[in-house]
Amino acid sequence: MIRFSLLGSGSSGNAIVVATSDTKILIDNGLSFKQLELRLKLVGETLDGLKAIFLTHEHGDHVKGVGVLARRTKVPVFMSEGTFANLPKGVGTIPCVQCFESGDTLSVGAMTLTSFRVDHDAADPVSYVVRSGGCQLGIATDLGKATHLVRQRLQGSNALVLESNYCPEMLRHSPYPAAVVQRIGSPQGHLSNPDMNSLLADLLHDELHLVVAVHISQENNTVEKAREMAARVLGSHRARLHIADQDAPSPMFEVTAAASAQHRRIA
Ligand SMILES: [Zn+2]
Ligand SMILES: [Zn+2]
Repeated sequence: MIRFSLLGSGSSGNAIVVATSDTKILIDNGLSFKQLELRLKLVGETLDGLKAIFLTHEHGDHVKGVGVLARRTKVPVFMSEGTFANLPKGVGTIPCVQCFESGDTLSVGAMTLTSFRVDHDAADPVSYVVRSGGCQLGIATDLGKATHLVRQRLQGSNALVLESNYCPEMLRHSPYPAAVVQRIGSPQGHLSNPDMNSLLADLLHDELHLVVAVHISQENNTVEKAREMAARVLGSHRARLHIADQDAPSPMFEVTAAASAQHRRIA
């Protein structure tokens, strides 16, 4: 079984806690130490037993809190060479850096993470498929397009965390400056609702139990639009759909290979 929660999702800070019976990791940390501890508490977790941090890319909303966290916990931080070379100065010293090449599979306890390259305007961005005990969690966020590689890597996931960043129509009328709008909508930008939906349609299978739409733009999308479109793709498929909140943690989801996804919220 894999348990996970989106502790934050979007431009104000991303972090995913992923745990099995004996291993706990974080993927990205764009949250302050205080916020991270607070949000972990809200889902019934703590930093105790944290084994490692994995980074997707060097953008501030994914790494802002990594330096402080790494210095306090002394856990290794895994990232691609390009991400390491381009970390913002403000992150500071990381005591234990473990660099890898995109495509590498990394092990922590009984958990393995397979990294794969995504198209995004960062130096060497990756995303991950997490596996443990026959269960697979596929994650793809901060990507301009869903390439063949992305589709291939996410196949067979029991739970999916997929970016559904913007509504193309809303982006056209966005209050953002033209250059930013162009960046978001480019093949190295972010994934739109329709692009996420076409990716999701390719990834449906009987043992997919949960879909979490993440990195929803506050200006260029709405939770309702993201939900309505993804729900249409799911149709009568039994997978649960959850839309991640920017500033509040999702429930702690529990996903197994064979049984339905469950969630619990510990207040
Ligand atoms: Zn990014
Ligand atoms: Zn981001």
